[in-house]
Amino acid sequence: MSQVYNFSAGPAMLPMQVMKQMQAELLEYANAKASVMEISHRGADFMEMAQKSEQDLRDLMNIPDNYKVLFLQGGASAQFSMVPINLLRGKKVANYAHTGHWSKKAIAEAQRYCDVNICTDNSSNKYTNIDDFDKWRIEEQGAYLHYTPNETIAGLEFDYIPEVDMPLVADMSSTILSREIDVSKYGVIYAGAQKNIGISGLTIVIIREDLIGNVIANQPVLFDYTTQTNNDSMYNTPSTYPWYVAGRVFEWLKEQGGLSAMAKINEHKAKTLYDAIDGSDFYSNPVAKKYRSWMNIPFLLANEDMNGLFLEKAAERDLITLKGHRSVGGMRASIYNAMPYEGVDALVGFMQDFEKENG
Ligand SMILES: *Cc1c(COP(=O)(O)O)cnc(C)c1O
Repeated sequence: MSQVYNFSAGPAMLPMQVMKQMQAELLEYANAKASVMEISHRGADFMEMAQKSEQDLRDLMNIPDNYKVLFLQGGASAQFSMVPINLLRGKKVANYAHTGHWSKKAIAEAQRYCDVNICTDNSSNKYTNIDDFDKWRIEEQGAYLHYTPNETIAGLEFDYIPEVDMPLVADMSSTILSREIDVSKYGVIYAGAQKNIGISGLTIVIIREDLIGNVIANQPVLFDYTTQTNNDSMYNTPSTYPWYVAGRVFEWLKEQGGLSAMAKINEHKAKTLYDAIDGSDFYSNPVAKKYRSWMNIPFLLANEDMNGLFLEKAAERDLITLKGHRSVGGMRASIYNAMPYEGVDALVGFMQDFEKENG
């Protein structure tokens, strides 16, 4: 098989080492004499894997002891509901930053449960910039502040953490594990697995213990964080295979040197691609430099009529899934942890050749 580089925004590329482990272990896992897909989540082999994966994630992210780690289903989108259901704690308002497609969806869901104070809104600049924090209009009576540190579609990433006197909630679906963060600054962190953790079907939730236990009455039992923490994410059958894959990715990340090492690699990969875009009149990226994402890099061709040809020629060079989101147009290269330097170099090389031939 030739080396293909997959720039999909999610489900996204996995580390080759993890894919090979998945393949080698597919039929028979540990001592189970069966596939990890076929065994009970309450059996010794799975339980051991589950505990180790949580510990590895705690080590990687340096998660303090007063935080629970959950391995849930429903994607990040289910957290759009679980957050207000559990965190309003009798309050009527919550603060939300509207900085892109995903925060907009989180807002729409929260509006079913409370008044949403949109404390900052950059939709008028098409999500290409973020207001300085001192311009935000925070409602101090709000139950929490929700924001999206990396907006996957516009390729917009915060370079600061909002500082507020209320729980800070972050949808880190497309940035978790890409660099070190200070977990203690957050009340809740959540992320769908299919970008930087593993495969779809799993959502990681990291929640400060004192925020658990305040669910609104008569909500689905599965949507109560208490149900999930009291049962170690096994109130019902968890998403076993995605959980196992996540565990293998965490081991791989530790082998790479952890998140400080990943941050250096990711910063370098992103710089390589942005430099190529900025160094040419043929390609452009509309996002304010300060807020450019390390993970998702949209770029436009000067001549939009060439989009189809670009994608076709890229695929011939085994560079796939570069088509931009329909709301932004052009191209988008998602370069999560699993994308090696070589993939970015191959893309940049192709972009330069394409410009020479068609520019
Ligand atoms: C992909 C993505 C989502 C949606 O995740 P699902 O797991 O499909 O619900 C939400 N937020 C962000 C930032 C994303 O990148």
